Amino acid sequence: MDDRVQLVEGSRIALLLPGSSTYVDLVLALLSHGLFPVPLDPALTQAELERVLAPIKPDHVITSEDEAATLLARLPADSRRGLPRGRPIHCTSGTTGTAKGVFSGLLSLTDARALVAEERDLWGFVSTDTNLVLSPLHHSAPLRFAMGTLLAGGRVVVPGRFDPERITEAIRTEQPTTMFCVPTHLQRLFAHWDDTGWPDLSSFRLVAHAGAPCPTSIKNRLIETFPAGSTWEFYGSTEGQFTACRSEEWSAHPGTVGRARPGRLLDVDEDGRLWCVVPGHARFSYLGDPAKTRDAWRETADGPAFTVGDAGRIDDEGYVYLDGRRDDLVITGGVNVYPLEVENALRDVPGVEDVAVFGVPDTAWGQRVCAAVVGGADEAVLREHAVAVLAAAKRPKTYVHVRELPMTATGKVRRDQLAGLVLPTT
Ligand code: ATP
Repeated sequence: MDDRVQLVEGSRIALLLPGSSTYVDLVLALLSHGLFPVPLDPALTQAELERVLAPIKPDHVITSEDEAATLLARLPADSRRGLPRGRPIHCTSGTTGTAKGVFSGLLSLTDARALVAEERDLWGFVSTDTNLVLSPLHHSAPLRFAMGTLLAGGRVVVPGRFDPERITEAIRTEQPTTMFCVPTHLQRLFAHWDDTGWPDLSSFRLVAHAGAPCPTSIKNRLIETFPAGSTWEFYGSTEGQFTACRSEEWSAHPGTVGRARPGRLLDVDEDGRLWCVVPGHARFSYLGDPAKTRDAWRETADGPAFTVGDAGRIDDEGYVYLDGRRDDLVITGGVNVYPLEVENALRDVPGVEDVAVFGVPDTAWGQRVCAAVVGGADEAVLREHAVAVLAAAKRPKTYVHVRELPMTATGKVRRDQLAGLVLPTT
């Protein structure tokens, strides 16, 4: 029986595959045949996968597991009708719930190449680069790094699922020149290297982190241990890239995520929400969520601006500082509390390995500030420290000690699951 599949130009091909060096080749090959890859997290549960796939409506799924194909077959037949063909889609991390499909306005391989070329120009990818991939390739940032490297003629090394031992081995054997990571990766690598010995890091010319706030202690170690001038932070999301920041700039402006990347205009509205204008770029939309798409866009004198819901401020020199997600804001007794500020304060307490601050409904306060803490920090010491450095409304009223924080596959805290760690008040 001939079980080959005819792929019609413009078809959407969902990828449910573990990261590998051929993953990036596959994405580039699909694009070059006029097909549109939709990289998805292969670890999604059945229910999550159904929620993600329903609005994306892929024409085909490429997977290494039969189960995923079965899931797709179970989707309602009418979910496949009336599809606009084409356009790559990328899913967000799902930090605030199930990953959202971001339907970009790009139309062709040429456009995708332009996007990747922009990355290449910013990071200076060249044919002698070896990009070490730490994050899952279904996430947009590591995929753009890998594609940019390949398009520049360089090499990509994919050790597979994040494991400090495997990454260390790859650093020793492959002498990578670049890597993209999230702060959790750095935290885990540094802890591993403290136990087992530090590898030679001198091959690196570019180490960029993004995706989540980086604790100051981790940032300082990054700057001290990697080659001078190699470390960068950027602030971006699946929907767009906003800033970039050399570590020297960060040291001179502690806490910043940098200034607007070329071609972006950033602004903050009266609610503290950040907005971005990218002149000339097509609009994205959220699949299956027209209301969210509507809220994400507004007209400005400079052109259409979008927000991904982050709150922050911009100083006189254009440096951006993030306060966290506007939706993560905890309003307690009428006072606005950004979890990020409280988390940063609590990280200074000895024994705190990780911390996430969140709100839960509270009859007296509207919301109550809670903290989930990883590590052996003593609750009395945490409370004492909070009294010393935080205004009363910002101090967590409830502490829960957890073995680990709920994380997305891309290494970010799953904020939608935090409230479940605390019993509701009556
Ligand atoms: P979802 O939208 O599905 O809940 P997500 O927002 O985590 O998931 P991504 O697009 O993967 O999806 O992540 C983008 C977000 O990560 C940004 O909006 C911002 O909140 C956060 N982020 C990105 N870079 C940084 C950074 N350098 N520092 C702090 N936070 C960052």
